[in-house]
Amino acid sequence: MKLDLRDIIYIPGASVGFDYEPDLSDAVGGAVRDIIKPARAKGSIRNSAGVLLFEADVQARLLCACARCLKDLEVPVNLHITSTLTEGEQESDDPDVYLLEGDFADVDDIILSNFILSLDQRFLCSEDCRGLCQQCGADLNEGPCSCKAPIDPRLAALGQLLGDD
Ligand SMILES: [Zn+2]
Ligand SMILES: [Zn+2]
Repeated sequence: MKLDLRDIIYIPGASVGFDYEPDLSDAVGGAVRDIIKPARAKGSIRNSAGVLLFEADVQARLLCACARCLKDLEVPVNLHITSTLTEGEQESDDPDVYLLEGDFADVDDIILSNFILSLDQRFLCSEDCRGLCQQCGADLNEGPCSCKAPIDPRLAALGQLLGDD
């Protein structure tokens, strides 16, 4: 969504709001399998003494893969975004500063890039997920598989030292 700022851009104190369902599908990839619709983005752009301040709350639910057992899990995301909009030609080095496109702000772009940055984490179905057996692929949360536990080489060496043959 592009937001028209002509009504606020030269008027300190003026603001324009938005409340819509952003398309976050570009965040799908890796451990993120899907975005459960609808996502919601609510916020405003405010002219604060000539500086355009962007603020938004984004609510979404992700369908993710557990990093250990690969099971699907739903992860709620509540993200608060604050950034500054500026006129200019050059991209800023500051990731919280976005360029205006003429008199418009690309709200989708600001929300999507912040959303993707916020997802820099591993998802687990539970803190003590046992994951999958590396040999047979069985889900170890459902019980032990029939594979023999691999022998720890340090323990094997200890056994030899003790003359245990
Ligand atoms: Zn898991
Ligand atoms: Zn196994």
